[in-house]
Amino acid sequence: MSKQSQSRLRFNFGFLLEAGLGTSRIIELDYPTIRVAQDLDLTPLQGVFTATRTSEGVYLSGMLSTNMVFECVRCLEDAEQTIEIDLDELFYYPAHTAPPGEYVIRDDGFVDLAPLVRESALLAIPVQPLCKPNCQGLCMECGQNLNEADCGCDPEDIDPRLAALKDFL
Ligand SMILES: [Zn+2]
Ligand SMILES: [Zn+2]
Repeated sequence: MSKQSQSRLRFNFGFLLEAGLGTSRIIELDYPTIRVAQDLDLTPLQGVFTATRTSEGVYLSGMLSTNMVFECVRCLEDAEQTIEIDLDELFYYPAHTAPPGEYVIRDDGFVDLAPLVRESALLAIPVQPLCKPNCQGLCMECGQNLNEADCGCDPEDIDPRLAALKDFL
């Protein structure tokens, strides 16, 4: 397979590790596109986060955003949505003080944010994506995309109150 390319989300936090507790630095990201994992490219990746030196390491907090294409659960069309990626994570330093499974800062001060960004992005994916909040979906009868045109089918499941009226008439 291809060579493992080095993550472009590596940051040197050495200066923060040398700094006093509470020292923070605002870091801005603006990538037109970036690969955060073999299975995930983010286009774009933008946003701002704050890195703060704490007694346990460096705490990262901020909000990134990207665009993703989803299939709308109602009309099955592809739709692009902006996804907000919430960053809220402590990176432990020195690494051996970290509880199992937690993120760490390497001894040389470098941190790879790609795994955190990947995990946070996957958490931000909507469970039931819609192309727009009022998507009309597909006609149950003929499959027509009701956002594009009305098909003229008689809807089976109309409002029960209206159904009662129809029976009466
Ligand atoms: Zn839709
Ligand atoms: Zn129809």
